[in-house]
Amino acid sequence: MNFFNLPHSPTLYGLVLTLILPAAVHANQYENFRFPREESTTKDGYPTPLSGKPITKTPVITKKKGASNKKYPEYYIPGKEPLADNEMRVTVLGSGSPTPVRRAQATSGYLVELGNGDNFIFDIGPGTSGNLYSMGIHPALLDKIFIAHLHLDHVGGIFGIFDAMGWARNTPLQVWGPSGTTPELGTAAFTQNIREAAEWHVQSKRNLLPTGGTTIVTHEIDISKFSPENPRQLAYDKNGVKIYAFPVVHTIDGSMGYRLEWKGLSFAYTADSEPSTFEAEQCKGADIFIHEVFPAPDEYAAQTKMPLQHAKNALHQHTSPEELGMVFNLAKPGIGVGSHYTLGDALIDNAFKNISTTYDGPVMLAHDLSVINVTPEQIVIRQAKTSLLAEVPDAPKLEEVNMNPGKRSDSRRPDWLTETKIQK
Ligand SMILES: [Zn+2]
Ligand SMILES: [Zn+2]
Repeated sequence: MNFFNLPHSPTLYGLVLTLILPAAVHANQYENFRFPREESTTKDGYPTPLSGKPITKTPVITKKKGASNKKYPEYYIPGKEPLADNEMRVTVLGSGSPTPVRRAQATSGYLVELGNGDNFIFDIGPGTSGNLYSMGIHPALLDKIFIAHLHLDHVGGIFGIFDAMGWARNTPLQVWGPSGTTPELGTAAFTQNIREAAEWHVQSKRNLLPTGGTTIVTHEIDISKFSPENPRQLAYDKNGVKIYAFPVVHTIDGSMGYRLEWKGLSFAYTADSEPSTFEAEQCKGADIFIHEVFPAPDEYAAQTKMPLQHAKNALHQHTSPEELGMVFNLAKPGIGVGSHYTLGDALIDNAFKNISTTYDGPVMLAHDLSVINVTPEQIVIRQAKTSLLAEVPDAPKLEEVNMNPGKRSDSRRPDWLTETKIQK
């Protein structure tokens, strides 16, 4: 029966709604989320995008043989799996390329959750905030963003997390990122401009809502201090968590990677970078190493409808699957993750085939909401089932929250317009 062709009969509508509503009410439960496609694989046996499986043939990697390994449910469901006190969970918030952002692939963003309750966001590209909020973490606990570089596919989603007025985070957003070779090219100039661009937004809500969340505190990493003798800088050091920044080869000076270390577990992320022995050294032995990868030029030209020569020029600045394998072969991570890749059924087998010419370790292609759990014993990769209608979880108890509404603009709408308001 086609619901949209129903005759205009209230009785029949009532009957149909009665039948449909109970299912609709439950449709926002995580457990009932259905992946858009039936489980399916490519010709070579890799899960296809949106099939509910992570795109890898090594979803479980044993780090310590003979250890008693934790068992995980088939899918990650937010809010249902507290982390052990020596466990890390990394979620891909955005796995795609900037042109274009797709419904199935936001651009760069990764969430790192630790068993001590700390959360970190690495890059916040367009489309990532919906995925982020679907992870069941209260926004007040999401205030630390580490920016790898200032390309818009890595920072263009920042308004989605900056805007937390009144309902969530009432403390400043903390942002780490590279300085530029000149001040206007640095992260502090970027965040200042973001805050200034939001002035009308902020003023319009003053005296109505707390404004503690409308400031950004920026921590710039001075890129001029990097050298062969000083290859990395400690950007963050708190609660036993250390995050190091190091430079990578990507366009103009001011692109970095990060490495997070905590309780013997590690996460390394180079965002966009051409392959280098330097980055491989910085990411050596990390449990998770996320690196960009692009298709071969002919595939990319076909995908982007770009002339082949332009595709070759563009990809010269990026990492091919074979080069990704070379970097992983030097770094030997627990799981090597290729990301920033526009997924498509036809591109998957070739990517893995080409990676395998230079690397035979565990590898995956990132997909939005791929989830990687790391413990001292193992690495487990799954897809998350998140609700399309995710609600904000209970608010945590916050201390020293700035509830001061601040100054509101005294600019007024013209009286003639206000007088047309319909009286309640
Ligand atoms: Zn970039
Ligand atoms: Zn990028």
